[in-house]
Amino acid sequence: MSDRTSDKGSRKADLWQRKYYESLDELEQKEKQWSELESLLRLLSSRLTLLSDASDEQLEKKLDKLRSNLRYEDNVLKFQPLINDISSAIGKSESEIKVRKIDPEFQSASILNSLLDELNIPAVLQRQEKHVRKRIGRAKSEKDIPELIKDMAELLGLGIEHLVEKERERAGAEASDEQVKEKTDTKEEEKTGLLKKLFSKTKSEAEETRRSQQPEAVEVPVGTAAGSIDVPVDVSDESIDLDAGQDTAESESVLALSADDIRSAAGVLIELLEKLDLPHDLSVEAGLIRQRLEPCYEQEKLAQALEATAALVAEAHARVFDEKKELEAFLKQLTERLQEIDKDLQETARLQQLSITGSQEVNAAVEEEVRGIEQSVEKAGDLSMLQTDIQSRVIIIRDHMDRFLQAELLRDRQSGDISERLKKELNAAEEEIEMLRKQLEKEREQSMKDVLTGLFNRKAYDQYINDELARFKRYGSPFVLAVWDVDRFKSINDQYGHVAGDKVLKIIATVIAENTRETDIVARYGGEEFVVIMPETKVEAAYKSLDKLRGMIEDCAFHFRSKPVVITASCGITEVREGDTPESIFERADSGLYRAKENGRNRCEIVE
Ligand code: GH3
Ligand code: MG
Ligand code: MG
Repeated sequence: MSDRTSDKGSRKADLWQRKYYESLDELEQKEKQWSELESLLRLLSSRLTLLSDASDEQLEKKLDKLRSNLRYEDNVLKFQPLINDISSAIGKSESEIKVRKIDPEFQSASILNSLLDELNIPAVLQRQEKHVRKRIGRAKSEKDIPELIKDMAELLGLGIEHLVEKERERAGAEASDEQVKEKTDTKEEEKTGLLKKLFSKTKSEAEETRRSQQPEAVEVPVGTAAGSIDVPVDVSDESIDLDAGQDTAESESVLALSADDIRSAAGVLIELLEKLDLPHDLSVEAGLIRQRLEPCYEQEKLAQALEATAALVAEAHARVFDEKKELEAFLKQLTERLQEIDKDLQETARLQQLSITGSQEVNAAVEEEVRGIEQSVEKAGDLSMLQTDIQSRVIIIRDHMDRFLQAELLRDRQSGDISERLKKELNAAEEEIEMLRKQLEKEREQSMKDVLTGLFNRKAYDQYINDELARFKRYGSPFVLAVWDVDRFKSINDQYGHVAGDKVLKIIATVIAENTRETDIVARYGGEEFVVIMPETKVEAAYKSLDKLRGMIEDCAFHFRSKPVVITASCGITEVREGDTPESIFERADSGLYRAKENGRNRCEIVE
């Protein structure tokens, strides 16, 4: 194999190595984000289960604000302010969040400990309390927290039982639970009130009642105007009865957080779940958690959902971690292989050098002997002496040549071996690199897709809009950007549940994708918003086809409980302009969308 080939091979390997390092950086970043989100969610869930005895009147407002902040963030870390806000809304101070960040391992454990300090666990339960404290002391990471929460819950349950029992005894056998409650010492009431409510029978009974009140599953047969689709869609595996939920919410207003607060917090958690960029199977699980949150009026249920979300995030985290480890191992292997190749190349160079030196030495030796012969000839008086002298010099020359040739032969054999080895190593390295390159490409492709609709996702859109803007700058190729938003989608979710909402989104995505050109780029921008990049298109032509598309969405025959439901969408349209940036063109299209909403929805508006 020639040096050039091996050089090319190692350069290629080098280039890929750099790419893998970059992708390792990305994975590290992602891993950090998942890990932070997970810690925050876990902290939040333990707070909610155990600590929140302070209801914040402003919660609803805060959640509303958060909802708008939450809009289409594609980076998990950006959820942190949201989590912080919900945290403080349920009685958590900012400083605690900061402490949590500095010492992620033990914050939850120390919260549990201080909670135990705060609570007056009855003396009869001292042994159990000691046991729980020991376990808290042994906690190593956040993963231990759910178990500890269970232990705490058990201990508190026992404590409450004991207190109730004592009160009963004091109040006399005929006293009602209500009377017992009234007579309980105020301090005790403050400390155990929420817990009592959290673990009380009344609550679970209420839940049982609500479950039994839920009606059967509903079907949503769906078809387009063209009548091409007629997909029967189950709105929900569970039944929906919003009225029943409302009643229960009122009956449970005794909870530390009001039912409305809990519902709002659940709403934000649902949005968070919708926005997490999870692999396919995990996003199915996220869907199930969301389903369980519909409806959600109990603090405990919310805490469970938070815990489940944290577990989900942990799983995503673990996967990124594994992926990172795999890549690291590959990089290590590749580096070692490249080092081997480098060593072999150096050896080849050394042998070549030896060969050059060897032939120089032979030349010098031969030259010297020839010079000696010349001198002998000049000085020779006796022919036989001259003959003997020349003969001996020829022998010396032959000897030099023989040694040189033998050394060359050996070097040849050695470099032949090295070259064989090099070939094999390079082939193996290239095969591995090729395999990983394909894997990386596949992963990259997947990471560009939206799991729910199969369209491109926000990340892909960001790349495409940059590409289109660059093309416009270089060649002046015009293009149109359209931003779609489903009208009053929140009320669809509210009325029929998020699972039904998801199905609506899938169908609308299909309608948009199937009725745009091959060259158009359709992406889910986030939530119920879609974007279409239409290359080589002027705004008037775009308007015509987009408005036709709007009509098709309107004509989709959605049915909920056999009743037709009209779902519409609005669209903002704009054409690229000199000096546009991804932000400026999007803002313009978005302002068209805003105008379409202002002007009554179900319409397209151009912004010139
Ligand atoms: P408007 O006509 O003004 O657009 O009203 P809207 O209700 O559609 O607007 P808003 O932005 O208030 O609500 C969007 C809703 O879309 C809220 C959010 O829960 C829901 N949503 C976002 N992503 C998803 C998703 O993936 N699935 C479901 N089912 N709902 C989603
Ligand atoms: Mg919207
Ligand atoms: Mg909308």
